[in-house]
Amino acid sequence: MKEPIEQRIDRLHAGGVIDMHFDLPMDLYEKRDRRNVLETEFLPEFEAGNISVVGAAIYIEDRYLPQNGLRVALDQIARLYAETAASERFAICKGYREIQEGRETGRIAFLITMEGVEPLGTDLNQLRVFYELGVRSIGLTHARTNSAGHGGIFAVSGSPREGLTGFGREVVRECETLGVIIDLAHINPAGFGEILSITTKPPIVSHTNIRRYYDIERNISDEQIKMIGGRGGVIGVNSILVSPREEESTMDRYVDHIEHVANLIGIDGVGIGFDFFEFIYQQWPESRQKELAAKFTKPHFIPDLTNHSHAQNLTRRLIERGFSDVDIEKILRGNWLRIFKELL
Ligand SMILES: [Zn+2]
Repeated sequence: MKEPIEQRIDRLHAGGVIDMHFDLPMDLYEKRDRRNVLETEFLPEFEAGNISVVGAAIYIEDRYLPQNGLRVALDQIARLYAETAASERFAICKGYREIQEGRETGRIAFLITMEGVEPLGTDLNQLRVFYELGVRSIGLTHARTNSAGHGGIFAVSGSPREGLTGFGREVVRECETLGVIIDLAHINPAGFGEILSITTKPPIVSHTNIRRYYDIERNISDEQIKMIGGRGGVIGVNSILVSPREEESTMDRYVDHIEHVANLIGIDGVGIGFDFFEFIYQQWPESRQKELAAKFTKPHFIPDLTNHSHAQNLTRRLIERGFSDVDIEKILRGNWLRIFKELL
């Protein structure tokens, strides 16, 4: 007898789902006067989607820079710790074993990540401090230039042609020494190649899209995808940049990105980095939404993939598109777990 699709989805989700990029700490920081934000606002959606590991990204908005980058980053981590301590359902994990233990005890694991090294300034000692606080994955830049390098811009061409700065190279080397994953999301093309030339471990791109469907330098080309695949790395597919056109920002297009990466480098090279952002975007006044669109691009939210409670919708579409159980489990968690096991 054929297994009903909903039962098959439940079975595939039973081992959990890993999302390697979520702007959670910045939202907890903005809501720092409230308590139990994690349990009341996030837990229901995590539970509904069977989310097991979340890459919780420290990101510093322009309005806090340059003076307050370090302070806001520390406060974001403080809120994540305080909120996690107030709940039985979460754990901040610093290694593969802790992630597995978290799963066994029914907790959702946070892996603290950093998107842009602005909090470090130009001080490598701060990297050691953030490592001790639990940061286990670092992307050198967001779109803007900082002390480590340059971001890829939200346009077909025109990103700075230079690679990393001397400090950026030091950060990369120190991350490899400490056991921090290097995340190539956002870095400009020159920096991308340079990072790969000075690292030896499998690289990741935590949340990105492919230029074939959305041709901007913030996203990655086929050549870059092959470079990641050649090194045994994993690419997390982003949900908010699947197409420059709103009407093409659909679940099927999201799966197209997954399929394209898998066709180029095999199913072992693709994971999830949803980058759900609508909940933050909706909190902003229209003026700030417009500012974001002018500075980067207007995000297009996929209607049935806007938050973690929608994860089953993705699995359902992967099944409908003919992905096997083994492949789906690799996409949902297996490939990221392999990276954690090898690097953390
Ligand atoms: Zn990002």
